[in-house]
Amino acid sequence: MTALTGQLQAIVGPEGVREHAPLATLTTFGVGGPADWLVEPRSVAALEAVLRLAASSELPVTVLGGGSNVLVADTGVRGMVVRPRLTGISEPMSGRVRAEAGVTINGLVRWLIGRGLAGLELWAGTPGTVGGAIHGNAHYAGRNISEHIVEVGLLSSRGVLAIVPAAEMGFGYDTSRLFDTSEVVVWADVRVAGGEPDAMRAVARASLAHRKRTQPLHLPSAGCVFQNPDPTRDRIPMGIPWSAGALVDRAGLKGASSGGATISTTHANFIVADKTAMATDIRRLIEQARDAVRRQFGVELRDEIVYLGEW
Ligand SMILES: Cc1cc2nc3c(=O)[nH]c(=O)nc-3n(C[C@H](O)[C@H](O)[C@H](O)COP(=O)(O)OP(=O)(O)OC[C@H]3O[C@@H](n4cnc5c(N)ncnc54)[C@H](O)[C@@H]3O)c2cc1C
Repeated sequence: MTALTGQLQAIVGPEGVREHAPLATLTTFGVGGPADWLVEPRSVAALEAVLRLAASSELPVTVLGGGSNVLVADTGVRGMVVRPRLTGISEPMSGRVRAEAGVTINGLVRWLIGRGLAGLELWAGTPGTVGGAIHGNAHYAGRNISEHIVEVGLLSSRGVLAIVPAAEMGFGYDTSRLFDTSEVVVWADVRVAGGEPDAMRAVARASLAHRKRTQPLHLPSAGCVFQNPDPTRDRIPMGIPWSAGALVDRAGLKGASSGGATISTTHANFIVADKTAMATDIRRLIEQARDAVRRQFGVELRDEIVYLGEW
């Protein structure tokens, strides 16, 4: 056991830290190598202390939520992978619900519907956690989750807490300021209103049914690998729908594979992985699709998934 592991154990307990910890099972793709250290703080104070220790030890920190939007390199991730296990939900005031970073979006949707609080029912079926949804501004049916966020509790890389209004979060399509600042989401306050549970359940069920119809949910994936084209930057040839999936499909790549990775025949913006898949297979296929779309349509597809580790 290294000295650092001992220091981490003093903060998060022996169960909360592992050296050379496999990450594949913590991601929906199910691929990728180990973290030098995997640290799972269960309180805000522990998360703060872990970040301070990483900063003073000059170790890189990578945050992992539900692992549903990441591709972890086969060689793994150097330094600390911090997986906040903060799972509290509360109502700090009327019209607002505070969900901690490790709460799953599905758990939050269920919690809200159970209390007759409307807001996030459209997001039913979105894998992952509040932390990941804030980082990438999770979207569904043309709506961004940021529309429902009032403010966010963020820790700096040195473990200092800031309460940031949504307007200062740098939210955009698939993005937030966290891509630049490397701050860690501790909690998010969601705006809610009184709602009729049966009506909310109907919206949630419709979202789930739509996903079931249009996405390969029975196979490991990380959802859409590419962002949809941006109307202010990209030009799409006439007759092709304004979506990355349509471009990959028209480029003839549905069903293409590389090792254990295949471009889904159900949804061309999903790559599905079998048990033999390596992260490099998935990455190769992503680049093959990007190249084909660039060559055939002159459109540069941008990544929606996040690469963790060295690439
Ligand atoms: C079947 C399927 C369907 C999907 N459908 C959708 C969809 O409809 N809409 C959509 O937007 N996405 C969708 N996704 C992608 C994914 O569910 C979302 O991007 C989700 O918000 C990621 O959350 P996560 O907790 O899994 O984040 P992770 O994958 O663990 O991490 C993603 C990024 O967020 C960062 N991060 C995670 N937690 C924190 C934190 N606490 N603080 C700071 N940074 C953090 C990570 O460092 C990483 O950069 C889908 C994925 C799958 C597998």
